[in-house]
Amino acid sequence: MNANERLKAIRAKLEEAGVKVLPHDEYVAGLPETTCVCGPDTYFSDDVKAKCDICGGRIYHRPYNQAAKKKICTACFIKNPAQFEDPQ
Ligand SMILES: [Zn+2]
Repeated sequence: MNANERLKAIRAKLEEAGVKVLPHDEYVAGLPETTCVCGPDTYFSDDVKAKCDICGGRIYHRPYNQAAKKKICTACFIKNPAQFEDPQ
């Protein structure tokens, strides 16, 4: 069984159990607004290189932060941290 066949089998079992399986983009679109404040340096070999959503500067983040709707650099965060506060 190759990787695609294994994924299809896993998906079928999840759906049998009543779990709704979404495409990644649809899943991310349904997440609450989140902002990841990222640094300009990388510390792990699997860090993801990206660009700050505000200034376009180089940033690195952990792979699981791919789900954050906005990724910004520390400099942009420091300029106006209040705009990223949780409204709760
Ligand atoms: Zn920035």
